[in-house]
Amino acid sequence: MTACQNQNASCGSCCGIHNLVFNSPGAKLELLHERRLEFQSVNFSEISTIVSYRTLREKKEESIFRFDRETYVCPFFGPLEKSEAPERQKPAFGCMIHPSITGLENSQNFSFYGGSICQSYDCPNKEKDIESMYSDFLDQNFPGMEEYSRLMADTLFFSALEKIRRTSEINLSESAAASLKYLCCCRLLTDASRHVTSFEIAKDRFENPDQEMKFLLADAIGKNTSDGRSVSAEAILFNIKNLTGNDSSSAFEEQ
Ligand code: SF4
Repeated sequence: MTACQNQNASCGSCCGIHNLVFNSPGAKLELLHERRLEFQSVNFSEISTIVSYRTLREKKEESIFRFDRETYVCPFFGPLEKSEAPERQKPAFGCMIHPSITGLENSQNFSFYGGSICQSYDCPNKEKDIESMYSDFLDQNFPGMEEYSRLMADTLFFSALEKIRRTSEINLSESAAASLKYLCCCRLLTDASRHVTSFEIAKDRFENPDQEMKFLLADAIGKNTSDGRSVSAEAILFNIKNLTGNDSSSAFEEQ
């Protein structure tokens, strides 16, 4: 298992899926299933069918608003069949022309970036998460594609977290892990989290990590997390401190 394809969750943010802006919550999934349906027309022994799938999908999707106009959205990212990811317990999403699926060494050359770029790219978070502690934490706590991928590829959030506490240490304390989960839930409520691509670059413009994290979570304040906790500046600060290991765990639930 990798950060891109974990036990319960898939990423794929670098394929640009979150760069598309949808009007309704289910529209992204609908689009992905539509891709899969049309992908059935592809026959790998007929190159023209692969080229025509890509051209038609790009045309169909060009009217969907892009959060970042410069970031390409790859139509080969879609739901994988059970037989293509047999070890997965939950539905998997990924590259439908990955060589491990097609059995063809160069099948990703039909993508915009080409096989060598697709296969050699690892986002900064994946590169830094050497022991997979962060990706496994997300896999356990945020299974599925939507939340896992938005957190896994969020370079700004990961960079701020690492300054508070190295994510390789998150299994050291239950309380720290609970605080990390709270901050992740807050991050998912922000606008920036909805459009991550993994290409965002963290700028060192904050005097301290607390300030940086509070900035990244600012527009979550006043909302409720998906597990029903309210988000306030005080609760964020408390959990930042708790994540460093400098605070008691007992007060966490009260925030
Ligand atoms: S954004 Fe990172 S973790 Fe996600 S699919 Fe791309 S390389 Fe893998």
